[in-house]
Amino acid sequence: MPEYISKDEKSGYPILVDMRSLSIKYRIPVLKIKKFFDALDKGIIMATRCPVCGAKYFPPEAWCSACGYSGEMEFYPIETDGTLLTFTKIFAKPGSFSSFPDYTVGIARIDKEGFNVLAWLSDKIENPKVGMPVKLRVVKRAIDNALIYEISNRD
Ligand SMILES: [Zn+2]
Repeated sequence: MPEYISKDEKSGYPILVDMRSLSIKYRIPVLKIKKFFDALDKGIIMATRCPVCGAKYFPPEAWCSACGYSGEMEFYPIETDGTLLTFTKIFAKPGSFSSFPDYTVGIARIDKEGFNVLAWLSDKIENPKVGMPVKLRVVKRAIDNALIYEISNRD
């Protein structure tokens, strides 16, 4: 067997091992939602609200798709208590997370805001259950030091 063919740890089947490493650099314009990242840096999760019609957006959006307003959106800190609606463990990861251990993503309903939030689940939630009370928290992800918001235990 050639050296670039290995055995998959989970299935035991032969797999081709890619000999190249993948490096991805995202360049996303954030001028009109920079306040979101500034607040995240302080541990605060912000959404935007349209000053004309009151529509809320999370993640923040730079203009209102409900009424067409394209001026300055209002930023406000969101309520962080919610309920876990669903979750799934990610085994087949996208390329940019291919070097990460398997992780779990979920959707939390934030009742006081009237919207749902998609995020990674904290690895401190050992046994997630649909309907469990959860809280959004800002954390520094250990593997890459990225500042993210995650779904965690409420305590
Ligand atoms: Zn609007």
